[in-house]
Amino acid sequence: MLDSSGHLNGAPFLKDENQGLYEPSPQFKNLAKVCEYSSKSNTAVAAAIPYFQEWREAAHQIKKYSLANLDKLLVQFESNMKARGVEVLFAQDAAEANRLVLEIARQHNVKSVVKAKSMVTEEMELNHVLEEAGIRAIETDLGEYIVQLAKQRPIHLVTPAMHFSADEVGQLFHEKLGEPYSAEHAALTAIARKRLRAEYLAADMGVSGCNFAVADSGTVVVVENEGNAGLSTSTPPVHVVLVGIEKIIPKIDYLPLFLNLLGRSGTGQKLTTYTHLIHGPAPGKKLYVIFLDNGRTKVLQDPHAWESLFCIRCGACLNACPVYRRVGGWSYGWVYPGPIGSVLTPHLVGLEKAGKLPFASSLCGACGEVCPVKIDLPHQLVHLRHRAVNEPSPMNSAFERLQWKLWAWAMCGPRRYGLAMWAVRIGVRMAKFLPWHPDKLGAWTRGRELPKVPTHSFRSWWQERSSQKGKS
Ligand code: SF4
Repeated sequence: MLDSSGHLNGAPFLKDENQGLYEPSPQFKNLAKVCEYSSKSNTAVAAAIPYFQEWREAAHQIKKYSLANLDKLLVQFESNMKARGVEVLFAQDAAEANRLVLEIARQHNVKSVVKAKSMVTEEMELNHVLEEAGIRAIETDLGEYIVQLAKQRPIHLVTPAMHFSADEVGQLFHEKLGEPYSAEHAALTAIARKRLRAEYLAADMGVSGCNFAVADSGTVVVVENEGNAGLSTSTPPVHVVLVGIEKIIPKIDYLPLFLNLLGRSGTGQKLTTYTHLIHGPAPGKKLYVIFLDNGRTKVLQDPHAWESLFCIRCGACLNACPVYRRVGGWSYGWVYPGPIGSVLTPHLVGLEKAGKLPFASSLCGACGEVCPVKIDLPHQLVHLRHRAVNEPSPMNSAFERLQWKLWAWAMCGPRRYGLAMWAVRIGVRMAKFLPWHPDKLGAWTRGRELPKVPTHSFRSWWQERSSQKGKS
């Protein structure tokens, strides 16, 4: 998943998928069990709400409205926030967002950063960029802290170190931090708490994501369970929020609905332990909000695809997906794993790089059933498959596309069809005189014999039969 310089390198799914399917890494041995357990607890808390389906539908409609009115809502959010002294910036792509973060860091003479969990910063590879600029960045979410120490990438949207056992975390803390080995959960948490507390106090800047950006009140909403996001956003003198433009919702009145859905679908909780509503900077501190597009407005223009921007990153579709359970998050090759990754990644990094991902699904439909904002993930995948075979992508070649175009042309008229069948009959008869064996055509022909060509085609037989009937 990472190239030699530590960058994410697209989505080489099929290779990794095969490794996952046939030679599962021992590291992933518990993944299916943990996903199944999470999926069951998500379903159980949802089933306890008799109107859960109505909630899903309401959230779907609000997201639809939000994205249809994105321009107005972003302006409303910006003016509400600016009125309270917040600087709101917009970045077209990851490079621009990184440049803005570095400018802010230079302006405030930042040497160290504490980061709360944020998928957008993964998209930007912000840790890498900060490191290159000589700025120390520490992840403070426990799972993110573990994967950062292990020099890995998050394996899941919500539980980034899902694949680590307590024993492995104990070993890691011993090797990397010099702490005495322990596999006790309480002891491991205490080590992380002690280490991270010192980081919060020393940091010059805090960086966080944003679960919801509320337009009418101008509020950044950050939800979490560990308290680390609260400390990362409030302790350092500067706080930078990085948020995808699709995270906007119109009204604060709608927030409880989304909080109820996110907690239940994400971690099987009625509500996450902490919900931070940030309206402006604390006295004497600075707050910046950077909205990132990075391909989202392009997705917005596609009527078949824009629904994928409704995602609230709960991770429920990952837990429910039989393919994800088997291969884990890294096989998806970019930031977003599982069914939503198979949909979002081709849109955001391009079909030519990630065109294999929509095929990383059995289309069983489980992802669509659990999604709290009712994204029709199976149909999104089918739509992308259609594009992947019609546009330049790793799933086809120019020659293959030409073949299918000819096939479509031939099938659209009886005369063309007759002509094509005549050509095929000649071609199959001539094949035996070829100097090379049809094996060379690929795996499909290796296991199959060329059929014998009958002396009469069905069409000629039918015509003869019809004319004989006419005579009689
Ligand atoms: S697509 Fe739906 S289920 Fe999957 S992470 Fe997004 S909101 Fe959750």
